[in-house]
Amino acid sequence: MTELSITPLGGAGEIGKNCTVVQQGDEWIVVDCGLSFPHEEHYGVDIVVPDFDHLVQNREKVKGVFLTHAHEDHVGALGYLLSRLDCPIYATRLTSAMVRSKLAERANLTDPDIREVASGETVKLDKLSVEFVRVTHSIPESNALAVRTEHGIVLFTGDFRFDFTPVDGFQTDVGRLAKLADEGVVLLLSDSTNVERPGWGPSESTVTDGLRHAFRKAKGRVLTTMFASNIHRMQQIFDVAHETGRVVAVTGRRMEATIALCRTLGYLNVPPKTHVRLEELREYRPEEICVIATGSQGEPMAALTQMSRGEYSKLQIRPGDTVLYSARPIPGNEAGIWRTVNRLFNLGAVVLVDPDPPIHVSGHAYREELMAMINLTKPFYLAPVHGEARHQFLYCEMAEGMGHARHRMFTLANGDSLVISEKSADVARGSVPASDVLIDQNTNMAVDSKTIQERQALGHDGVAIASVSIDFKRREVVSRPRLEVRGLAVPESVVDRAQSDLCDALEDLSPAELGDKATVEKEMAEAVRVSIKKTSRQQPLVVAIAGEA
Ligand SMILES: [Zn+2]
Ligand SMILES: [Zn+2]
Repeated sequence: MTELSITPLGGAGEIGKNCTVVQQGDEWIVVDCGLSFPHEEHYGVDIVVPDFDHLVQNREKVKGVFLTHAHEDHVGALGYLLSRLDCPIYATRLTSAMVRSKLAERANLTDPDIREVASGETVKLDKLSVEFVRVTHSIPESNALAVRTEHGIVLFTGDFRFDFTPVDGFQTDVGRLAKLADEGVVLLLSDSTNVERPGWGPSESTVTDGLRHAFRKAKGRVLTTMFASNIHRMQQIFDVAHETGRVVAVTGRRMEATIALCRTLGYLNVPPKTHVRLEELREYRPEEICVIATGSQGEPMAALTQMSRGEYSKLQIRPGDTVLYSARPIPGNEAGIWRTVNRLFNLGAVVLVDPDPPIHVSGHAYREELMAMINLTKPFYLAPVHGEARHQFLYCEMAEGMGHARHRMFTLANGDSLVISEKSADVARGSVPASDVLIDQNTNMAVDSKTIQERQALGHDGVAIASVSIDFKRREVVSRPRLEVRGLAVPESVVDRAQSDLCDALEDLSPAELGDKATVEKEMAEAVRVSIKKTSRQQPLVVAIAGEA
């Protein structure tokens, strides 16, 4: 029997960029390939993707990427992986269609090898096989993946919940999950995002009531904002709008594209004469209008954010408008969202963020649902993923409370390998490089950590530029050094002092040192940095230029 190892490259100890490698000997598969969003101090970075070096270096072993569902944190980095490595992608029909359109748009990949798999089907490789098991989540066709290995089933829950009245009627395949337990689940890698929420989460279909209530109460236009991928939610908005005598117009290219795709494939049923173009809205009275807008996360360029600034030419916010936030803020986005909400209020709109009855419910399992998954699948080992450290900790505590032994639970971090043999399981910490890869989407290039540090220094304390002319052959300083600062808020005396320390440093250089440009620049930068830090505690980015005279 060959060794089995499971290595998250992303999504362990974090919520985002899910990507895990399952290795049975020389046969490797990848489960999900997602992106995450940068921290605020990552200036100029648009997205974060996993480090794929480990996969690229072992390209001949990678037999396929298996996708649980079409959310960005599970599929958004595919373009970056496929640009470095050729391998088939396995996904359901909707996930395939959404991935295809994203790859064509973002990565210029027009003919990726995507193989459609229906929920309930199994893809057989040589040593491994992967069964797609339907689960409910906030996007149709979400799946748990049961990876059959020589050691038993490794079960990825994917993002899931147990919703018994889902909007599209497709419930989590509870019967199948229980059958997997009979076969033997060696490891359960479970979503743990909502472990802090007690009880059982409300059904997605309960949102209809909240929307109905809000739509009826609204005197004028209704604007709703949500994730473009939340197709169940979109369905309910179209239905409630139709029921309350409103037409629906959509803003945002991505939102329009998703709706068009889902209508074509039959995942979204729009009541007749309900969907109109933005330009047609002038033919309707305010109480006959509903607008679906992008921008639920306060994204600067999204339609709703632009409307809040009065910069959206096609639609202006007016007193009497009601804005519904039908989404939860992703942690880190709160500040931007509240700024948008306040600007909308200033324009006279009424904004409902978390009203009662609710107009948003989570797509992730609450505590009791997480326990139900454990009970159904009876895993031998447990490893919570899709959660930060506290979620992972609380999940293990919860499982221990259910009688599971602590030594069979693993809190994995990105880059750790859980190695399972016939007798035991052990974690090799940091066995694979798995740092964040920061991408600037303008260039589609990775931004290295030195650049980020420089941008942070610039952002905090500005820049100091020291320059001097040197005759490197004669080893002589031929001009008085200059020091210029930008974005540095200090008294003039600090700059004067740094300038004089810079002169001293140059005077102290030996002839040998004066013959070497790199040494001169290093000494100049150091003198300025030390001086400014000593007198003002500021740490600007220091640029030193020793020019040939
Ligand atoms: Zn998801
Ligand atoms: Zn997710």
